[in-house]
Amino acid sequence: MMKYLLTILLFSLFLPSLSFAQQYDLVIKGARVVDPESGLDKTTNIGITGKKIAIVTRDNIDGKEVINAEGLVAAPGFIDLHAHGQDPYSEKVGVFDGRTTQMDLEAGALPVSQYFKSKEGVSLTNFGTSVSHASARLLAMDKVNSDGSPMMTHALEKATKTGNKWASNIATPEQLKKIDQHIVKGIAEGGIGIGVMVGYYPNANSDGIARIAKIAAKESSFLTTHTRFLSNTTPSGVLGQQEFIALAMAYDVPLLLHHVPTNALADTATALDMIDSANAKGAKILAEAFPYLKGSSFIGTEILSEGWQQRTGMDYSDLIWVETGETLTKGTFEKYRKERPDGFFLMEHIKKKDMLSAVLHPEVIIASDGMPLVDKKGEFLPFDAAFGKGLGHPRSAGTFGTYLRLAIDDGSLTMQQIIAKTAYLQAKFLEPFVPSMKLRGRIQAGTFADLTLFNPKTVNGTAGYEAGTNSLPSVGFEHVIVNGKSVIKQGQLQEKIFPGEQISTLH
Ligand SMILES: [Zn+2]
Repeated sequence: MMKYLLTILLFSLFLPSLSFAQQYDLVIKGARVVDPESGLDKTTNIGITGKKIAIVTRDNIDGKEVINAEGLVAAPGFIDLHAHGQDPYSEKVGVFDGRTTQMDLEAGALPVSQYFKSKEGVSLTNFGTSVSHASARLLAMDKVNSDGSPMMTHALEKATKTGNKWASNIATPEQLKKIDQHIVKGIAEGGIGIGVMVGYYPNANSDGIARIAKIAAKESSFLTTHTRFLSNTTPSGVLGQQEFIALAMAYDVPLLLHHVPTNALADTATALDMIDSANAKGAKILAEAFPYLKGSSFIGTEILSEGWQQRTGMDYSDLIWVETGETLTKGTFEKYRKERPDGFFLMEHIKKKDMLSAVLHPEVIIASDGMPLVDKKGEFLPFDAAFGKGLGHPRSAGTFGTYLRLAIDDGSLTMQQIIAKTAYLQAKFLEPFVPSMKLRGRIQAGTFADLTLFNPKTVNGTAGYEAGTNSLPSVGFEHVIVNGKSVIKQGQLQEKIFPGEQISTLH
């Protein structure tokens, strides 16, 4: 017995030195580590084992691989809740903007299981989708299956042949029942929230929308929305947002309100005030914005139906056709709307003060709303295609870099607040629905090692509106780590590793 006790005593004496000698898979040394949840903002070391952060400490620690991160900010990997570009090339460009999770919670996908299958093992970053209400309408009203493709890319073209009933018609009672069934199935398959982009089918009647809020409540899900009425005149964009704020409060369902300035336009301050006030009364509304003045969509959209100039204050000369970079005229506008309704365009419609009031609001999250970057024929590019080849809105490539430069130079937010808007607020909003979100958006022992290390002096977005610059990578993101694996090391993309994992209500 005595011998046994002695052994234990001797063993415990060695324990401190054993833990000191522990070697981590990856160690990040000397970064300014910012963790909005714990309030940490200090020069600290991070030890990573496998997919998770094992330790955050000021002690000297050892790793099989060590990153010297002096002068860099280490932030929780950026979580983009609004990334339509789910193809390999767009995803790659997004990584250079510091994003470790890229999900499409606006347009969403259907069938949800098909979406997840297509992304498994081939994704640089974590991926996820909402259940697409628009795709459910396509299926029920046009009998067109979008095959799990976000933004319904090829399905939009097919639906042109059936008259795009999903976009322009009011669903019949039988169709509404079918839409409900598709949505409930998508939730069961792990879809994150229900993506209701009613701005693209503004004729949908109020019952058709309210019943989706009731399904969200019943199925313990939530709503995400691109609201009706991109307009300064009545019915205004704010009126469209009120529809969803009311539904969220009436049925007690959380709400992700996409790109507030895009729809609220000159009334953005009013919209944000309403959201703040609703949240103060217990609503759970998360508003998002991107740091650009132009928007982007597909040319066949209902947003550009009769009277759009009067509603939005834009004219043909404010629209750019993505594939050629040409400014549209009445003639080319009508031609493309008829012949290429799924082709992307840009529009200048947001005023700087409105963009800034949202982007610098401490509770409004940053999201790219990045459209898929395409070639001159409107097709997706291969993974290895060069930066600059991809055509589209620069927000696909530069949202987070552009935001960081703007917010750091502006100086009205603390670094904690700046960083909270890129990952933590997103994770906090999603964690009641998505188990793994309790362990993302943070830098703490036990959380996933999704990390973005950037140089606060140089970080910026470089993508622009001119052809050839749309998909240029952001600068200043020195290291991007996804589930413990370096995807970008010293500014360089690592050889084809795809550590991205499924983010869903099942994981
Ligand atoms: Zn949208």
